Amino acid sequence: MATLHISVVVPCFNEADVIEKFHTALVATLDRTGESFEICYVDDGSADRTGALLRALAAADPRVRYTFFSRNFGKEAAMLAGLRMSRGRAVVLMDADLQHPPELIPRMVALQRHGYDQVVPRRDRAGDALVRTALSRTYYALVRRFMDVELVDGAGDFRLLSRRAVDSVLSLPESNRFSKGIFSWIGFETVTFRYRNAERAAGCSKWGSRRLLNYGIDGLLSFNNRPLRLAIHGGLWVFLSALAYALWVVANVALNGANVPGYATLLTAVVALSGIQLVTLGVIGEYVGRIYHEAKRRPPYVVRETDAAPAADPVPVT
Ligand code: UDP
Ligand code: MG
Repeated sequence: MATLHISVVVPCFNEADVIEKFHTALVATLDRTGESFEICYVDDGSADRTGALLRALAAADPRVRYTFFSRNFGKEAAMLAGLRMSRGRAVVLMDADLQHPPELIPRMVALQRHGYDQVVPRRDRAGDALVRTALSRTYYALVRRFMDVELVDGAGDFRLLSRRAVDSVLSLPESNRFSKGIFSWIGFETVTFRYRNAERAAGCSKWGSRRLLNYGIDGLLSFNNRPLRLAIHGGLWVFLSALAYALWVVANVALNGANVPGYATLLTAVVALSGIQLVTLGVIGEYVGRIYHEAKRRPPYVVRETDAAPAADPVPVT
């Protein structure tokens, strides 16, 4: 256990088209490092042959281990399961679709030797659709403005974590996980470097625009209660302006004997206020929903089959 150097954690969901190609490339690179390694595959309830392929890979190579979920629980849950499985002194998290080039691993490991606890390759956005690039730029600007943690555009889940960084990630008990935020929250010495973005080798992305939007909302809300604070500030401002306007109307009538203006202003005020109220209610609802979700204390995933000894559950069971 003390000597195992690299663990590679790979969440897989319907990756049958690419998984063998990925595995070959990964093992070739890892062999070249001359370090001991293990590969932890997590099958996130794939409907295709991914599971069977992984089992075959594990049977052929004792350095390959796997966990299968009972259904699709999402990439966050799969990454968590992989981190819990991992035993290496350095853990590399990467996608199975070859968008995260395995050739970068030696460089990442070398940087860890220099004392970095997190090594983060940043992809450039070459080849991305223009709209998507613009949207993510806006999103990151928003996040920077409203969140306590720092997120870097282009820095995703692809990264190397030292053992103590992994242990701190696993020590967070929340089940509603937003890894990008968690990685930033744990801190430690972090280094980033750029790499060229690659197209997916095969299969298709599982992130439709709706899923991305929901992921974005999760990110904004799961880290602090600043949106709640914002709702309070917004409400206060609207209330104060309404008060000022009412005073002005009264003064206008009293001093100038003006006619009270018609329904248009009333309507505007009502509509504006209802909008603000709805948004605020929604924000509160989101937090209440999260509390409800956490209060149920459900595990983030259910394992159907694994060849790894179950790691100690960092979530205290009461
Ligand atoms: N993935 C997963 N569960 C899911 C969706 C995706 O484990 O519900 C895995 C997928 O197999 C891949 C990685 O997460 O290894 C990234 O997925 P994808 O390539 O679809 O995302 P994108 O690169 O478009 O962000
Ligand atoms: Mg991908």
